[in-house]
Amino acid sequence: MADTARFPDLTDKMDALIATARRSFDLRLQTNAGGNLSVRLGAGNAIVIKPSGVGFAECTRDNLQVVLLDGTILPSELKPSKDLDFHLDLYRIRPDINAIVHCHSPWATGYASAGLEIPCLTVQTIEKIGRMPLIALSANGGPQTEVEISPVFRDPQIRAAVLANHGTIGVGKTLMAAQYLAEIIEETAHIAYVRDTLMAAHGRSTADLPRYGTAADARAAG
Ligand SMILES: [Zn+2]
Repeated sequence: MADTARFPDLTDKMDALIATARRSFDLRLQTNAGGNLSVRLGAGNAIVIKPSGVGFAECTRDNLQVVLLDGTILPSELKPSKDLDFHLDLYRIRPDINAIVHCHSPWATGYASAGLEIPCLTVQTIEKIGRMPLIALSANGGPQTEVEISPVFRDPQIRAAVLANHGTIGVGKTLMAAQYLAEIIEETAHIAYVRDTLMAAHGRSTADLPRYGTAADARAAG
């Protein structure tokens, strides 16, 4: 394990990551060994990340990896996450991001696999997220990398995105903030599916629905 003299907040951040991963697993946002999550260390130039092949429910202080933002992986027997490069790049380009939760939650990934952006249709999603861009597969048809993901997150307003045929990304100032977004993305996809299924069953179009603005819109109007 990397030394705590170099990274004084290492064990606290590891414990927070372990608790967040457990919460994601318990909520069925991520089963099996897929997905990954990471958190920036206070020193700023390093992160803690779940390695490849370890489930969200199996994260421990002994299997998490410490990686410097230049890509150097501190000694570990485990394979790094396939998504390590996009995590590192997001921390490099967005100093406001301190944590990333990436999971394959089923309702949201269903939308992403249908090639559909999840609509921000509730008061909460309009206020908390605003927009969840859909990021296409890489040009060779493989999973998204930093080449596709980083340009979307260069916009400082973007806090969540959905990856075609893959999953979701939520980012935040803290692990809990990123985890809440992962939960809101999934909840919103579920709500959108119920809305659209009901409206189709009743022969109604979403074009007939009133448009909900933000609370700021309402204050400006009233
Ligand atoms: Zn993934």
